[in-house]
Amino acid sequence: MSAILVVNSGSSSIKYQLIDAESEERLASGLVERIGEQVGRIEHHQGEERIELEVRVPDHTAAFAAVLDAFAQAGTAIAELEVAAVGHRVVQGGSEFVAPTLITDAVAERILALRELAPLHNPAHHQAIVAARAALPDVPHVAVFDTAFHQSMPPHAYTYAIDTQVAAQHGVRRYGFHGISHLVVSRRAAALLERPVSTLRQIVLHLGNGASACAIDGGRSIDTSMGLTPLEGLVMGTRSGDLDPGALLHLLRSGMDVDELDRLLNQRSGLLGLTGSNDFRDVRAAAASGDAAARLAIEVTVHAIRRYLGAYLVALGGADTIVFTAGVGENAADLRAAVCADLEWFGVRLDPARNEARIREARRISTDDSRVAVLVVPTDEEAEIARQTWELITA
Ligand code: AMP
Repeated sequence: MSAILVVNSGSSSIKYQLIDAESEERLASGLVERIGEQVGRIEHHQGEERIELEVRVPDHTAAFAAVLDAFAQAGTAIAELEVAAVGHRVVQGGSEFVAPTLITDAVAERILALRELAPLHNPAHHQAIVAARAALPDVPHVAVFDTAFHQSMPPHAYTYAIDTQVAAQHGVRRYGFHGISHLVVSRRAAALLERPVSTLRQIVLHLGNGASACAIDGGRSIDTSMGLTPLEGLVMGTRSGDLDPGALLHLLRSGMDVDELDRLLNQRSGLLGLTGSNDFRDVRAAAASGDAAARLAIEVTVHAIRRYLGAYLVALGGADTIVFTAGVGENAADLRAAVCADLEWFGVRLDPARNEARIREARRISTDDSRVAVLVVPTDEEAEIARQTWELITA
């Protein structure tokens, strides 16, 4: 009995997968969306069965009831599937959660209390945790934090140079995100290279709708581009990434209010702000047809990635491997080539045919004689959450 229900909840949606933690086989997966709206939607896949329903889902409690119903309708009730535990992805664990944690009432309260640092995410996680614990009261529930992997960063990497009292009072420091992805990808990269992770200096580039870079020394995160929030760092689908903090003051003084500024930076910036689309495929197609704004957007995106690449090459004292992952990183060969261009002096040599091959598995895209191994490694956050949950409950 090693089936783990992995839950990834947002304010109006719950994504879930039932994974056999030992074999990593997907037993079922699904999505409940538009929670709280007039009409909600449920999609459930289990074996050959596929269920799609439109029903009102007033809250997360109703959403879990709907998930359990979907299992029963697909032919195998969840009780028969013998779920060993539920693993919940939690975006913000602050400084206190440095490892997967068994959820008690007190832990659930602490996750909610961290909402100040993640107002969009942690309240939704808390609601889903309460509902899931009520729906499945007899199994352990485990929180797996996106921030935990980065708790190994040294103080000089996580400290912002502002008044220390203000920083302490408001919890202002670099936490970093995408930690579950950076961890699983760095381990899979080491496995592909047949080297112990403890011997490797790795730079992982998680380039999806959200994007972050991470410097990993011997399996430990020593720096990452996202900060207090998932807004800092690389250019993303709708998020700005790095910006002079003075620009925020300038916009506030010019009459923009805080909520408008929040929407601007989180929802209307990045590729979307520069081109009108947050989807890299659209931007690439527009650039190919000569659209100057789309070309510039790709150049700005590549420049930001290369800036972090340079910083992390120095921070790590060189690199054994550079790893691309997530939607853009796994699929956009042209972007990978642009990121790795003119780095032969540093020992990076891409093999164009390997880079352009359409293969879904983890693979090397550098030449055999490239001093730095450049890899594409698909991320799998759900499998990692299942693994960590299983490890905790069987320890
Ligand atoms: P993710 O957040 O990891 O799901 O990644 C989403 C991003 O991946 C979007 O910007 C997509 O445009 C991009 N993406 C997905 N498939 C491709 C592809 N075949 N080529 C280029 N970009 C892609």
